[in-house]
Amino acid sequence: APGLAARLLDKPERQGAIKIAAAQRKTHFQEIYQGLEADRAGNESRRCLYCAQKAWCNWACPLHNAIPDFIRLVNQGHILEAAELCHQTSTLPEICGRVCPQDRLCEGACTLKSRNGAVTIGNLERYITDTAFEMGWRPAIGAMTPRTEKVAIIGAGPAGLGCADILARAGIQADVFDRHPEIGGLLTFGIPPFKLDKQLMARRRDIFSAMGIRFHLNCEIGRDVHFSELMAKYDAIFLGTGTYGLLQAGLAHEDAPGVVQALPFLIASTRRVMELEEDPRNPWVNVKGKNVVVLGGGDTAMDCLRTAIRREAASVTCAYRRDEASMPGSKKEVINAREEGVEFLFNVQPQQIQRDRKGRVNGIKLIRTVPGEPGPDGRRKPQPVKGSEFVQPADVLIMALGFRPHAMPWLDQYDIKLDNWGLIKTGGGERLATQTSQRKVFAGGDAVHGADLVVTAMVAGRQAARDILTMLEHQPAQLKAMQEA
Ligand code: FAD
Ligand code: SF4
Repeated sequence: APGLAARLLDKPERQGAIKIAAAQRKTHFQEIYQGLEADRAGNESRRCLYCAQKAWCNWACPLHNAIPDFIRLVNQGHILEAAELCHQTSTLPEICGRVCPQDRLCEGACTLKSRNGAVTIGNLERYITDTAFEMGWRPAIGAMTPRTEKVAIIGAGPAGLGCADILARAGIQADVFDRHPEIGGLLTFGIPPFKLDKQLMARRRDIFSAMGIRFHLNCEIGRDVHFSELMAKYDAIFLGTGTYGLLQAGLAHEDAPGVVQALPFLIASTRRVMELEEDPRNPWVNVKGKNVVVLGGGDTAMDCLRTAIRREAASVTCAYRRDEASMPGSKKEVINAREEGVEFLFNVQPQQIQRDRKGRVNGIKLIRTVPGEPGPDGRRKPQPVKGSEFVQPADVLIMALGFRPHAMPWLDQYDIKLDNWGLIKTGGGERLATQTSQRKVFAGGDAVHGADLVVTAMVAGRQAARDILTMLEHQPAQLKAMQEA
């Protein structure tokens, strides 16, 4: 057989998903990447080196998906088998295939990356699942014996769904509660439709319901249902509640009309796309014909900028305090935003919100910065340049500065421990990795590790389900050990 070097030289160029041209895609909210056609999927499957024991992509994927194996099945034309394999390690492969930052996960580790481009693993994962669904395939729940235990899951985001998926397959009744009218958490009410078609979660809701998972939507724990009710009725509870505290810039007049937070802005826009009625907690912001400035440089900022473009703003500008190379989000999204007409101001720091006579925002005073000494995180802290202030006109100023944990006072009476940031503490001592300070309460996803990724939340939810199964099987022994500790 030819050696690795010969096999590397032999490979054709990467053929990723086709992207709709910017002029066209910025006029609508449909997904910008098209699914792979069969010939492109075939081409990519032939490019894979099937690195055998050294499949780095598999290790770089937080779910440890069996990537070379499912690519081989595509190569052999066995799509349904490939879909089965994808579902052994993942709850939502078609979603991860679309939204994972593959360049720093699986594809970032592909042996071909520095040769003629990584295999388009995300596109293939999407291709496999979408094609299998089109063929009428549905994930098999397998031969399981129904059990008597019931688990309540708070939050229908990727963490909660990952947990419910594993529990349902183990024969446990999983009841999922969410305050939103659709499942998905930030997949539905966060990530905009041009990155993720909202019909996908509606299809998944049907599939999960057919697996026996019960959804209680429009139902907020702590408001519509008491947490104590769940504690009394269920054998275990999983908290997959995300992080919804919104970070402020610390400037005067952040409550001025025209200054809005990123997430409510995105949710209101998505609710319109989904033809849902307006939610007073996330009011509609009309940006048509206005100058929009977004503060922040992460993925949420890119989503706001590209939503404002589609909502026909007159100008859309991103103001970020560091340089382009230091932007924390996916490089792909920055390229997409620029192609769609977003202007970028790098190395600028907000100083003052400017207002008109009626008190409405009409600009943001910015100061230019240069990189200073490295901070505790190793990143060089931006230093303001004296005398470099200027005002950027802004009729709408969107704060996309990140998230912190939100308060959940209903946890207090059960003494569920939080860390200094307000994130839920899990593991340690006799506890299982996802078990909180309350024996039958488990937690995972953004609520535990802070705002991160869809795939890492799913990993945590699936792990919590396994821990819940362990707890249910070893309850008496663990209880004794904890009491003695
Ligand atoms: P969430 O998805 O936040 O789900 C938590 C759920 O709990 C929500 O539905 C909420 O309504 C519900 N809930 C909370 N409290 C209660 C309560 N008391 N009662 C009932 N329900 C409750 N990640 C990527 O990998 N790729 C991306 O492209 C990407 N883009 C993003 C874009 C935006 C704008 C944002 C904000 C995030 C993005 N992320 C992305 C991050 C990713 O979406 C999150 O890390 C992930 O969704 C976290 O999953 P989770 O299940 O922990 O929480
Ligand atoms: Fe890559 Fe994400 Fe799929 Fe893992 S889940 S193979 S990281 S796209």
